[in-house]
Amino acid sequence: MSLNNKAIVALIVGGVALSFQTQVNSNGFEDSWSKPIKQHAKQIDDAALSQSLEQYAKNYENLVKQHGYIGKKLSIPEIEVVGDGVFFVKGALMWGTLENHGLNNNITAVELDSGVFVYNTGSNPAVAYSFHQALKQHTNKPIRWLAAENYQSHANLGGSYWHAQGVKNIYSEKQAADFWSKRGFDNAIRRVNQYNPFLVEAAQNMGDQYKTFEDKLIVNQGTPDEIHLINFGGGHTPTMTGAFIPSKNILFTGDLGFVERLPGLLHDSSYSEWMDSFEAMVEYAENNSPDIKNLLVIPGHGGATTLSELITQTYGYFEDLKVTVDKAMSRGLSGQEFDKAVHMPKYQHRPMYDQLYLRNARSVYDQMTK
Ligand SMILES: [Zn+2]
Repeated sequence: MSLNNKAIVALIVGGVALSFQTQVNSNGFEDSWSKPIKQHAKQIDDAALSQSLEQYAKNYENLVKQHGYIGKKLSIPEIEVVGDGVFFVKGALMWGTLENHGLNNNITAVELDSGVFVYNTGSNPAVAYSFHQALKQHTNKPIRWLAAENYQSHANLGGSYWHAQGVKNIYSEKQAADFWSKRGFDNAIRRVNQYNPFLVEAAQNMGDQYKTFEDKLIVNQGTPDEIHLINFGGGHTPTMTGAFIPSKNILFTGDLGFVERLPGLLHDSSYSEWMDSFEAMVEYAENNSPDIKNLLVIPGHGGATTLSELITQTYGYFEDLKVTVDKAMSRGLSGQEFDKAVHMPKYQHRPMYDQLYLRNARSVYDQMTK
């Protein structure tokens, strides 16, 4: 249920005039709306009005906490129905920006027998809310399970919205969840604040509420709601929670899978680990899929795809990249000559090529010369 503007106005009037009973907000949540009200309450020397404002601010904070987000629905991409009961929003094929609301990876919901599974929380509470509103046009089953692919903000920062909606089963690989609660959340808030603070006003750190696992967790085993969560290993980030749902014959690769845009090797990435993890993921799919030829693959970035397309666009790229870097190294190239030699025209049409081709080649070089 969302709170409309009228309700907010009623709350302002009612809150100030009546000072209704509220519990003290124990988590210290405040935002750009409640903070100045509380400051004002401290400054004025009308004790009754001060108490009233104080109560209003607390009441408002509790409401935000209860709803997970109060605000407008954002213009995120439309839901695509990519399979039977599979509702998919494709994130922008670039960085998180003001224009894409930070939604630069995918968010997907799968309607199962007794509820809905959501893969990735959305890049912030505003995006999560907007996705949820759109999803309600497709299913009225409750959201019951959620998984975050890794420690990145676009996998986790919408988590408090879903938690406020009553989703208690939020799953993550343990190391990723630990990183998220200790450092990831704060880093993410700082970054989003640089382009749109309103997106994260309601965001809270939910990392310590996650249900964690290390290698593999099968949720609802033996039921039509069975969901496999598997840490296929590092590559793009140190761990990667993939998901496989037998009843839907669907594989979520997390950021081990990139189609359309070029995969990126970041500071925590390793191309060789990535290839190993990718192989483990393909093997898992082959051993568990009831119909591997028709496996629906949801990559971390880019549209819904098939396993063979995924292999070509992610694994195939890394094979080519390795060969390209090997060649440049065997010619003894360095500096600008190396940079020129690792240009890969075959991939130039893919979004993010210009930003990543050199960085990726240097990452492979660094790993090989370490
Ligand atoms: Zn990512």
